[in-house]
Amino acid sequence: MDISETTTPGNFIRSIIDEHLQNGRYPHVHTRFPPEPNGYLHIGHAKSICLNSGIAQAYGGKFNLRFDDTNPLKEEQEFIDAIMEDVQWLGADWEDRLFYASDYFQQLYEWAIQLINDGKAYVDDLTAEEIRAYRGTLTEPGKNSPYRDRSAAENLDFFERMKNGEFPDGSRVLRAKIDMASPNMNLRDPVLYRILHAEHPRTGGEWCIYPMYDWAHGQSDSIEGITHSICTLEFEDHRPLYDWFIQQLGIYAPQQIEFARLNLTYTVMSKRKLRRLVEEGYVNGWDDPRMPTIRGLRRRGYTTATIRNFCEVIGVSKANSTVDVELLEHVLRDDLNAHAPRAMAVIRPLKVVITNYPANMVEEFEVPTHPQDKTNPETRVVPFSREIYIEQDDFMDNPPGKYYRLAPGQEVRLLGAYYVTADKTIHDADGNPVEIHCTYDPASRGGQTPDGRKVKGTIHWVSAQHALDAEVRLYDRLFTTPNPEEAPEGEDFTANMNPNSLEVVRSAKLEPNLAGTAVGDRFQFMRQGYFVKDQDSTPEKPVFNLTVGLRDTWAKMQQ
Ligand code: ATP
Ligand code: MG
Repeated sequence: MDISETTTPGNFIRSIIDEHLQNGRYPHVHTRFPPEPNGYLHIGHAKSICLNSGIAQAYGGKFNLRFDDTNPLKEEQEFIDAIMEDVQWLGADWEDRLFYASDYFQQLYEWAIQLINDGKAYVDDLTAEEIRAYRGTLTEPGKNSPYRDRSAAENLDFFERMKNGEFPDGSRVLRAKIDMASPNMNLRDPVLYRILHAEHPRTGGEWCIYPMYDWAHGQSDSIEGITHSICTLEFEDHRPLYDWFIQQLGIYAPQQIEFARLNLTYTVMSKRKLRRLVEEGYVNGWDDPRMPTIRGLRRRGYTTATIRNFCEVIGVSKANSTVDVELLEHVLRDDLNAHAPRAMAVIRPLKVVITNYPANMVEEFEVPTHPQDKTNPETRVVPFSREIYIEQDDFMDNPPGKYYRLAPGQEVRLLGAYYVTADKTIHDADGNPVEIHCTYDPASRGGQTPDGRKVKGTIHWVSAQHALDAEVRLYDRLFTTPNPEEAPEGEDFTANMNPNSLEVVRSAKLEPNLAGTAVGDRFQFMRQGYFVKDQDSTPEKPVFNLTVGLRDTWAKMQQ
């Protein structure tokens, strides 16, 4: 599917835009994605990226990427580079419109001076703690700072000296002069600038005062000519402030529109928390396949199309909710089922010797690569010989009823090859089966039923002498509970980590066709699940990650 077809959801935002285009408020559409470079992007950001870039595309408009780099204490070039790569991978195109809030530091500074001259901003000497205390509460109005009525001249002098580095961090701030009794806390003289003697990844040591998010964001939108500044619901109460700044400055006015952020079950979705998982060693980096980061998902086997399809399916709303992670997996499985070639892989091998098969004989069986798709004739050849591996799970010494796999005296079909019957089991000292001796029926060649007899079970296998040794990484959910934030008293989300979210199997046996594969290639290991070749693969030893199992719990729930 052309991914552009998946980016045009009908939603309440589009109704607002339609109205604006009709009534002439805006002649065109221009959106942006404004990440703060303080971590890697996650699937929540993907929702915002698909929405913003999708809307621009649907209306023949423009889409900007703008880094909201106003906090040099937390921001790093590493994150800037990674975010650009991830946005690109998601198929969002900012063309030549890559911007940084830091590009506007000088303009923002001049606008602050304009506010001071207009009596709309003042330098406050209260400490951060005092400012908090003076702010009041939701039920009580705040109190004016004793410094609120400084003259414009005095404010200009102090502000310039703040900029020139004369004062230590935290000693003064510049605040807007709005209304300390406003029912909206954001309008109680919000801070515009703080003093921070810190190196900035882009402006270096040029500035030691940095604008706050609210002061930078709307004005950056205005400078770029953004028409619709789409953000998540927690900014709804900031909209009056967003509009106030623009009005006071008398500059071009974008429209802020809020939508519900994406939350997923069994997932934490905040860069700050994801950063903790990385720094505290719960996962092996930002691109660990268990992470909900774009690169984690990518390494897990997700494609751009899967993520965009998912964003399309969940839609956009004004009410916060949590999406079942099984829906994400359902969308993934749909894509994989349609496109992933099939292969045979034995994850936990058990050796089978076919005692009546000639010792040096090798046969090649042609099997379909896309058996799910009758219109796709592609086949591949798998070698068969006297010794093969089957899955440990596919043999039982004392099977219960309705066990149709291999068991003493029981016959099973080896997928695409022959029927075999188990004659003898060799056990280790602990009584575990380690080798099964079977006989095969030469008349069942190609897995065909030779006479009317019924064989219910079909199992996969790999020829021992041809098998490719591989490492397989089996992943489970990172958290044991649907809402990891709900932690026991005195603990946090890390109390809900799943200690068994990764199992590494080092001795898997794959069909030899998988030798010629590339990192990122995805397969269905028949009867097991979908797997993707990992970047840790070496020419000697491929590594495959479990992308998702075969069982579609979402589809089941919908029945
Ligand atoms: P986080 O808490 O994960 O750091 P953030 O909102 O602080 O998220 P930003 O880099 O500031 O991260 O976000 C960039 C854009 O992505 C913002 O417009 C924000 O609203 C949007 N966004 C962030 N998280 C989500 C989410 N879970 N669902 C939808 N949009 C999101
Ligand atoms: Mg943020």
